[in-house]
Amino acid sequence: MERKFKKIGVLTSGGDAPGMNNAVRAVTRAAISNGVEVVGIQGGYYGLIHEKMIPLDARAVSGILNRGGTFLYSDRCLEFKTEEGMQKAVDTCHKYGLDGIVAIGGDGTFRGATDLSNRGIPTIGVPGSIDNDITATDDSIGFDTAMNTVVDAIDRLRDTCESHARCNVVEVMGRNCGDIAIRTAIACGAVGVALLECPFDEPALMEKIRRLKAGGKRSFIVVIAEGYPAEHPEFKSEEFAKRIQAETDVETKFVRLAHIVRGGSPTLNDRMLATEMGYAAVEQLLAGKSDLVICKKENEIVEYNINYALILDRMYKGKLKDGDLDHFSNSQIKEMREICEEKRIAYRKLYKMMDDISC
Ligand code: ADP
Repeated sequence: MERKFKKIGVLTSGGDAPGMNNAVRAVTRAAISNGVEVVGIQGGYYGLIHEKMIPLDARAVSGILNRGGTFLYSDRCLEFKTEEGMQKAVDTCHKYGLDGIVAIGGDGTFRGATDLSNRGIPTIGVPGSIDNDITATDDSIGFDTAMNTVVDAIDRLRDTCESHARCNVVEVMGRNCGDIAIRTAIACGAVGVALLECPFDEPALMEKIRRLKAGGKRSFIVVIAEGYPAEHPEFKSEEFAKRIQAETDVETKFVRLAHIVRGGSPTLNDRMLATEMGYAAVEQLLAGKSDLVICKKENEIVEYNINYALILDRMYKGKLKDGDLDHFSNSQIKEMREICEEKRIAYRKLYKMMDDISC
């Protein structure tokens, strides 16, 4: 690593995720090992605007490896989106002598990171999101822990469903992304899952439950991704549970796991991922790089330009705006389309597998 930086800042922003602490710890210690001072910015971009700074040394990040949430706190800061707020944040960086920032969060956080980079503050993004909704990376920090929390909860629900011959409809977090839902549905042997990425056939699910019940099956789990009812306002998870009971004669309960899925001690995978990503972020920053997001692709740590990652996300979610692709070469656009298509194919395979093995 080159040693031209004297001091860097680290912040966590947007929705919290288990493993964020591990990333802050890795950033802090990687920087200190390279003779660079570290300042923790409390409450995300709000803290950058309002000078909520704490010096971090190696001991300051001791004892947080197994703690959920983020000890630097997080916030959603609308002021930062304004030109005035942004300028205040830049002024704070100059005032405290911050030569660079590592920003840990989701796509909103990366938009802020790219704005800072464009204003001369080298910034590197690290994906922290339980939803795993950042297309450029296979895994984001917190996703593995969130899935394990859901699996634990559904296993418990399954116990009681089996005892009482019931169905449980379980709504899990995931905003516009069904990654938690599809994987936990498979891992918990759900009979069905409703998510945005694949068409959901409600009559076919009812028929399946009736058939399985007739064959002697006692317990049924159906998973709903949070984003599904949000995008289909006529679909209400609670009402759906009532329809299952009415149409299959299986007593059906509904549970929304909500923020339970956000908390808890990070799993080994999240601790590893967060540590690798935090360490890589410092490597990139000290090598003079900026405006990058650290990603994991096919088990390797790689970096993408933040704007590339954000536009790739929009492409995958079918939300491209006019002019979004203007600054990319044909080969980049081709690569983006291939990444999106591979992800869609992988989803369809998982969905079919889930359906086939829950027969
Ligand atoms: P996440 O990072 O988890 O996606 P948010 O979307 O809430 O969470 O974004 C976190 C923070 O990043 C926001 O509160 C805001 O301060 C900043 N941010 C979000 N969008 C933008 C934007 N378009 N430009 C600049 N900053 C943004």
